[in-house]
Amino acid sequence: MNAVRHSLLAQQLPLLYIMMLIAAVLVLFTFRNSAPLPLISVVPVILFSSAIIRTVHWFRLRRTELTEQQINRQIRATMILGPVMAFGFTVWAGLLFDYGDAYQQAFIALMVLICATVTSVCTAAMPATSSLIIVAACLPFTIKLLADDNEVLATMVVAFATIGVLLHKILRQYYHALTDVIESRNLLTRRNNEVTAAKREVTRIAYTDELTGIANKRHFNQKLNELIEHHPDPQQSLVVGIIDLDGFATINDVFGYAFGDAVLKEAANRLQTIFAGKDFVARYEGDEFAFILNAAADEHEAMHIATEVCKTLEQHYHIGGDTAILAASCGLAAFPQSADNADLLRSRAYYALHEAKTSDRTHIALFSPRHEQSIQSRSQIEQALRLAIHENKLDVSFQPIMDIEAGKPVAFEALARWHDSELGHISPVQFISTAERTGLISELMVQLLEKASATARSWPSSIQLSFNMSAKEIVRTSTGLRTLSILNENQLPGQRLDIEITETALLENFNAASSTIQNLKMAGVSIALDDFGTGHASLGYVGKIDLDKLKIDRSFATGINENIRNQHIVKAIIDMCGNLDIRCIAEGVETPAELETLRKLGCKYAQGYLFGRPMPADETFKFIADCVQQNTTPLNQAAG
Ligand code: C2E
Ligand code: CA
Ligand code: CA
Repeated sequence: MNAVRHSLLAQQLPLLYIMMLIAAVLVLFTFRNSAPLPLISVVPVILFSSAIIRTVHWFRLRRTELTEQQINRQIRATMILGPVMAFGFTVWAGLLFDYGDAYQQAFIALMVLICATVTSVCTAAMPATSSLIIVAACLPFTIKLLADDNEVLATMVVAFATIGVLLHKILRQYYHALTDVIESRNLLTRRNNEVTAAKREVTRIAYTDELTGIANKRHFNQKLNELIEHHPDPQQSLVVGIIDLDGFATINDVFGYAFGDAVLKEAANRLQTIFAGKDFVARYEGDEFAFILNAAADEHEAMHIATEVCKTLEQHYHIGGDTAILAASCGLAAFPQSADNADLLRSRAYYALHEAKTSDRTHIALFSPRHEQSIQSRSQIEQALRLAIHENKLDVSFQPIMDIEAGKPVAFEALARWHDSELGHISPVQFISTAERTGLISELMVQLLEKASATARSWPSSIQLSFNMSAKEIVRTSTGLRTLSILNENQLPGQRLDIEITETALLENFNAASSTIQNLKMAGVSIALDDFGTGHASLGYVGKIDLDKLKIDRSFATGINENIRNQHIVKAIIDMCGNLDIRCIAEGVETPAELETLRKLGCKYAQGYLFGRPMPADETFKFIADCVQQNTTPLNQAAG
């Protein structure tokens, strides 16, 4: 309330003082020749200087933001000074009155009453003070006029007093209405300020990452859109970088989530220090961060910054007495060179990140025309594969798995083959991963297993079908049943099937994979662990899963004679399989010398070009017949 009063006073009091000064000058002018010197010199000087000081004071206050205490102090001062000054003025006027003629007296009476009325208007914001000022200004003068026994002056006093009282009343009503309006306006402004502050806070929360306190994904995307939309100079690059902390999941597993959170916070701090004030950095997702280099000089500079960023993130994290080490990879994409919109730029940066992570040489990659080409060819392969699967055009080749001593195949491994009329021969490594990525793998697996089972059904019952099952498939709950129903349709008993799995599947989702494996095993299907020795956790899974077979990766057989270490490893694996009653198969045997060494190490089963390359279905029958009847396999030649 006092704030409202104060703002009204600050508007009006300077004007009031100016008016009083003018009135005083006019009075002085009128009495210049008739009043004694002290009354037209000393008194006016005191009155004038006080009025001028107050005018300047109020003018100053108009531009100043005051605290509540200061406002109260100003109002208290006005409550005292107002009546005192009014009283001073009116006493001065009363003293002058006696020295004037009738006109001068009428003039001074008029001045006092006008000043009292205007004061009443100007101090309406403080009704009590206003009344006091009027009383202080008018009462001494009224008494003086009435005492003078002049009828005209007395009537004038009565007229002005009546008007003054009425005016004062009207003004009070006006003042109340005005303060109501001002108070509601102030309330509204306060509410608006609160709403604006709340909105600002909501926006801040929506655009800030809760854990690290830096910008979040939403903020990053919005910023990128804005920068691209208003990118001033097409000659200058805007580079997006996405950083991934390699090994962060392990840190969570080893040290716990609280430690993981602390690492992320520390990583965010380091990034903010690097980018502070220049560029934009955000936590994108989980252990991914993203930054925007606006107006990077060139792509080399962007690579240089990314290198520095990764180095900084790779420095040790000392938290609560523990120390963690992380590696960082970064994918970069430049606008407008790599993409002409924000979505594409992000996905290009992700592509580069993926390249960076899979590259042996560097952990930083900038999206380049070479990547563009491989995306084109990837999408071409995707389209062609979709069509080939739709038309059931993929084939199966069979590679024998041999019993070394007997010189006979114990199984054939089914290997997918695809020859496209335009793209030519495409490696299964490539199209299987494409099928996994695009969700075509289930359909593909069904087609391949159907074809392989149809062939296997015609082999002697002692020969198994060994079938590769993708990691993506083994973790699906429907896979076990679907596999068994295909076997059933093709009249191939479960006991005739070996499923080859890699540890990738077990790493991805051990429980899901393990449940499919159990379902298959209940139907008599055997489980083989493929490519053993290449991964990170193979040995752990040998104990965890009820394995029937283990295939030693071909990297061990190749050149085994020149590598004593590999010989020791292979021997250890063979012994372990013997102890666990797991059949052990050496893959990739290419030369008789390799076979001989493996045989000496105790290996009983082998697969490789030495015995036979993957062959079409109809050749398997000839192969079996040759082995059984003519004993002319390379194995026998090698042994001989
Ligand atoms: P894998 O399961 O380890 O299959 C063995 C691969 O080694 C085959 O390559 C085979 O041709 C090759 N190989 C066999 N003996 C030798 C040898 O003596 N020397 C050399 N250098 N290589 C030999 P392929 O057919 O190109 O298959 C590559 C990979 O593709 C397979 O590795 C497997 O992971 C995957 N794959 C193939 N067919 C299928 C399939 O039907 N389903 C799934 N999920 N994956 C498949
Ligand atoms: Ca295999
Ligand atoms: Ca293999």
